[in-house]
Amino acid sequence: MTALNTLVPYQAQPVPLLLTPGPLTTSPAVKRTMLIDHGTWDDEYKALTETVRQELLSVAQAPAADYTTILMQGSGTFAVEAALGTAVPQDGVLLIAMNGAYGRRMGQIADYYNIVHVDLEFAEDEPVTREKVLTVLDDHPEVTHFATVHCETTTGILNPIDAIIPAVHARGVVTIVDAMSSFGGVPIDTAALGLDYLISSSNKCIQGVPGFGFIIANRTALARTEGNARSLSLDLYDQNQSFDQQHGKWRFTSPTHVLYAFHQALQELAAEGGVPARFARYTRSEQQLRQGMLALGYAPVIAEADQSPIITSFKYPSAAFDFHAFYAYLKDRGFIIYPGKVSTIDSFRIGNIGEVYTGDIQQLLRWIKTYSTVRVQSGRKID
Ligand SMILES: *Cc1c(COP(=O)(O)O)cnc(C)c1O
Repeated sequence: MTALNTLVPYQAQPVPLLLTPGPLTTSPAVKRTMLIDHGTWDDEYKALTETVRQELLSVAQAPAADYTTILMQGSGTFAVEAALGTAVPQDGVLLIAMNGAYGRRMGQIADYYNIVHVDLEFAEDEPVTREKVLTVLDDHPEVTHFATVHCETTTGILNPIDAIIPAVHARGVVTIVDAMSSFGGVPIDTAALGLDYLISSSNKCIQGVPGFGFIIANRTALARTEGNARSLSLDLYDQNQSFDQQHGKWRFTSPTHVLYAFHQALQELAAEGGVPARFARYTRSEQQLRQGMLALGYAPVIAEADQSPIITSFKYPSAAFDFHAFYAYLKDRGFIIYPGKVSTIDSFRIGNIGEVYTGDIQQLLRWIKTYSTVRVQSGRKID
């Protein structure tokens, strides 16, 4: 048998730092948990599943009497699809407030399920507003469900769910938030907001690895969804029944390594000081990045007041800017950045979630400074 401490990464090369919005850079301890194989039938594994479900409720500020956590195999989109496809009945009408690719993806999911949806579209650099949402609800009394994205990762804009969700909830509309890229990194008081479904995944701000999504669901709202699902594997109601009635048993094969890694990541979140401390770290990094980039001539796409501490979009500094050369230069020096996703502006993105600290951002800014200075002086690309 191979001793665990003799195992080394399969490539003995420097590990790059991911400045991307998930998968992201995880801690050595999170990676180490995945060196052990586990069976899904095991009581210890089921107990760990229950622990993770409970701990997520506390991160979400969602009391166990009123809320349940449903883990769902797959990437984050699988969890969004499970939530929409289970929460919204065949005769429901969904209002989607969107200002980016992930909001539009909810519209695509609704199309697959033949869910009637009203789309409230905002420009990608404008936040969703409560005022417009309420106006559309006035105009469309047939709406039964409302969905929006918290941090729209397309740009890094943060939508003000604290203002929007309580107002929508007060109208008796079921509320659904894709908090994929913000949950764990930005405080969300699920119960106080009157949020019925909060969706996130293992590889974002909890700082685990990819493999499952999860939904924090209000028990009263979920209880009304029996038989709604138009997909067997993505039936949230059924998945929850299995967890609740079989002491943490997933319905189908689950990503065992990912769950162990995620449990370790949750312990590290608590050790850091919980969501408020992580929010403070991400905010510091984002400020440092934003100010440093501005000083180097890279303008952010999103106004500071609407910017999330998760990921920042920067405009190309000139029409001649070669993103691929810039990307390759930084990659050679150990930093992986992210292409832009804004439809109308040439941009790139730099994330600062994960095991990323002030010193890393400082080093990144130094390389970008060197790159930018040499490029400007020589008038040509460098590699
Ligand atoms: C990451 C992300 C998703 C899910 O994307 P997957 O590629 O399916 O994991 C959904 N919404 C937002 C806002 C995200 O950031």
